Parts: sequence; C-alpha cells; structure tokens
Amino acid sequence: MDYDVIIIGGGVTGTASAWYLARYDLRVLLLEKGSDFCEGTSKANSGIVHAGYDPLPHTLKAQLNVRGNALIRELHDMLGLDFVQNGAMVVAFNEKEVKELEHLRAQGIYNGVTGQEILTRDEVLRREPNLSHDIAAALYLPTSGIICPFSLNYAFAENAMTNGMRPVFGAEATAIERIGGGYRVESSKGTFTARAVINAAGVYADRVNDMVAERHFTITARRGEYMLLDKTERGFISSTIFQMPTEAGKGVLVTSTAHGNILIGPDSKDIEDKENTSTDAEGLDYVMRLARKSAPGVNTRKVITSFAGLRAHPDGNDFIIEMPVPGFVNAAGIESPGLTASPAIGEMVGTMVAEYLGARRKERYIEERKAIVKASQLPLDERKRLIAKDPLYGRIVCRCEEISEGEIVEAIRRGATTLDGVKRRVRAGMGRCQAGFCTPRVMEILSRELGIPMEEIRKNDEGSEVLV
Ligand SMILES: Cc1cc2nc3c(=O)[nH]c(=O)nc-3n(C[C@H](O)[C@H](O)[C@H](O)COP(=O)(O)OP(=O)(O)OC[C@H]3O[C@@H](n4cnc5c(N)ncnc54)[C@H](O)[C@@H]3O)c2cc1C
Repeated sequence: MDYDVIIIGGGVTGTASAWYLARYDLRVLLLEKGSDFCEGTSKANSGIVHAGYDPLPHTLKAQLNVRGNALIRELHDMLGLDFVQNGAMVVAFNEKEVKELEHLRAQGIYNGVTGQEILTRDEVLRREPNLSHDIAAALYLPTSGIICPFSLNYAFAENAMTNGMRPVFGAEATAIERIGGGYRVESSKGTFTARAVINAAGVYADRVNDMVAERHFTITARRGEYMLLDKTERGFISSTIFQMPTEAGKGVLVTSTAHGNILIGPDSKDIEDKENTSTDAEGLDYVMRLARKSAPGVNTRKVITSFAGLRAHPDGNDFIIEMPVPGFVNAAGIESPGLTASPAIGEMVGTMVAEYLGARRKERYIEERKAIVKASQLPLDERKRLIAKDPLYGRIVCRCEEISEGEIVEAIRRGATTLDGVKRRVRAGMGRCQAGFCTPRVMEILSRELGIPMEEIRKNDEGSEVLV
C-alpha cells in the first residue's frame, strides 16, 4: 500500500482528521480537488464557535459541538488560531420567545453548556446598546466565540504537514475500489492505495460514499448568504446576536468577526447546484431585514462584500460519522456546527481509524503550530526589530489590512500558490478595497517567489488566471 490513510477533502473536517492522525505513526495522504485547503464550505460561514445550546440532545451535533468548543478554547494558543471568546446572546422579542429561551437554556444545560444566563431587556441593552429596544430578554452564552475559519483550517493542515501528512491539490477522487488489505483511489492526479479512507468531501460526501458503501444518503446543498461590513463599524456589536433558531438553522445573526468587521446573515435556501455560491437581491434583502430586527442601526451602506456558503445538509439531520465498510469512514453531513465541532470530529474520526489500523503513537510528534506574525499588530519596538531583521516586514502591500511583503512571502513559503491562498492566510485583499490596490503587487510577489510568469498567476483554481 502507498499510504496507511487517504483523506478525501481538505476542508476543516479533512484537515482536522489529519491533525488528529498526525500523532500516530501513519502515512497520511490528503486529496483535495481544489487548488488549496479551505476551498469548500469551510471558507464561507459565520465563523462562530457555538456554545452548543441548540443541537438536539443525544445527537452527534450536540456532543461534538460542546467538545469542539472546549477544544478550540484550549488549543487556540498552541495552534495560533485567530479566536476571540466574545460571548453570544439569543434574543427574544415576545413572551412566547421568552418561554422558548428557557427551553433552549435547559437544552444547553443538558448538552453540557456552562455559564448560561437569562438577561432582562435592560441587561441586554446595557451590554449591547445598539440592539433593538423591542427585545424582551436574551439567553447569554459566555462560552461562545468567533474564529477566523481560514486560520482553523490552515492550522490543522500545517500542523499535520509538519508531522508528515502529504497533500495533493487538484486531485479529485473519481472512483474507489476495495482491494485486498485496503482501497485503491482513482483521482485526477493519479491512483493511490491505502489501508483506510476517510470521506470528508463536504457537499459531495454522498457521491464519495456511493463509491464504496451500499447504504445511500443524500447531502443537499443549503445556501446561506452574507454581507460583510467595513471595519469602520467595529464596536457596533461586540458579542454575537442570534435570533430564535428555526427548522432551517440558527437564523440571521449580527456579529463582530475575529478581525473586527461586522457580519450579517445567513439566509437558508436549498439548491440543486452544489457549486452555486452566488448571492441574489432576495437573499441579501432578507438578511438586511432580519439583521435590522436585532440591531436597527446596522449600517448596510458600509458593506464591503457579500458572499454565500453551502451547508452540507444530510437527510437524517445529524452528522454522519461511521465506518459503513471496514476501513472506510464517512465524516459526512457536517453542516453547522461543523466548524466548532471540527477538532472533536477530527478526534473521533482519527481515533476510529487509528484503532482500526492498530496504529502506534509517534515517538516524535510536534504539537505546536505558530501563526504567521502580524507585523502591524506588534508593539512598535518589536515591529522595528522584526523590520531590522527582515526589511520586507516594513513594506506594506495591502493598505486596507496593513499586510507587509514579509507576511505574504511567509504565506507563500507555507504553501500559498494563488491570490486566494495568500488572502486567506494573511488577509491581503480582505479589506475595504477588496484587493483592488494590492492584487498586482501580490501577483508580482507570487511570480517572483514561485518562479512562474505573471500569466500563470491564478485567483484560485485552474482557469482563473488574471492576465492573458
Ligand atoms: C452558511 C453557513 C454558516 C455556517 N456557520 C457556521 C458557524 O458559524 N459555526 C460552525 O461551527 N459551523 C458553521 N457552518 C458549518 C461549517 O462551515 C461546516 O460544517 C464546515 O466548514 C464543513 O467542513 P468540511 O470540511 O466538512 O466541508 P468543506 O469545507 O466543504 O470541505 C470539503 C472539501 O472536499 C473537497 N472535495 C469534494 N469532493 C471531492 C473529491 N471527490 N475529491 C477530492 N476533494 C473533494 C472540496 O473541494 C472541499 O474542499 C456554517 C456553514 C454554512 C454553509
């Protein structure tokens, strides 16, 4: 066998599984059809580290949400995550909803959520003066947080790579055959064999399951649209504000992001096309209307971009984590709270696979992953020392986010090969001008560092070249 484990999918589920497996003496290969990690749902979501009040008790969602929340709070220094424990509120607008808050609180206690409190209207407005005066009460969730989803995905991936995991990009798994002692996986980048396979293919996990298992399940793409506001709005809201959850999800939220923007959304719409991440006027209008219900003064003239993500909604409504055939593990139907749950999913899937393979712990396992230094956030004397050591950290390329050439070069050293790869690792192009100013300069740096002509620099996947 070429490998012990092949993971299909480089989103947060696949990379968290690789991160957990990295502590075992196993040869791990990750196949990702996109050009980088974090190309699917993991790149477009609310970025909330949910407390765990809303998944139904006894579900995998409930168990892994609460465990994942605790793990992210525990791991954030060691893995260099962009995470802030800002707390959340579920707001109620009438007596019926106030009663439902009690139910959510009881469910939270049952799921193992700690520190929950019901706040009166006055307490809510004292903490968040920009919320609606129509709010009657709120459930406060102090363990809730906000995370940069990219930072979580890359932290898992980089730590796994430091410990030996090999990723292959542009490698779509197209067929899987059971062979003596394992599996043969055909991909657009060649054929690979392994003793075990993990299906972490997001909205395509039903198709990958069908390549191996007899029991079928369906994953429906459920689109959620968002609007992101400029950092000029920083401080408008400091915690995450949810409305009452419905069948379709946790509803429209208003939140600060881990980097100080304000985010509003998502709506919820089942769609046929598993690649359709477009936004439309109807969806964005709905998001604006509901966001204003919680926070009437939210300034939608300050929107710098809109985007959509696709929830991988399974027919059974719970995560599907199972080994339907020996050595083949599904980590499927990982919709919300999948980002929060990811380290716990990695732990569960990794343990399942390691036990199946009878794997031994590695003698030399590196636990830590250091984030790329954010030069503009260093105290002045430290920043001066860094620039004296490497003048590239003194050359600002992205003016909106104040990202230096040194950070961009480091992102490329860690594996970025495209404009999106740089943007998601260090935020060059994430600011108010949405890459209008820094794109040509980032392209020149990519061209120089990768030793390829400017015409070959892409935004992301093949066919997205910027110059002709
Ligand atoms: C609107 C929205 C809001 C959300 N908000 C939150 C939130 O606030 N908090 C939270 O905890 N969770 C949230 N989630 C859920 C969270 O984003 C997901 O659970 C998580 O990102 C799923 O990660 P994944 O790795 O399973 O899937 P993906 O990130 O989609 O990764 C799957 C990967 O597999 C690759 N792939 C697919 N098929 C193949 C193949 N055949 N061969 C090779 N590669 C393949 C894809 O290219 C993709 O990169 C939200 C989701 C959405 C859509």
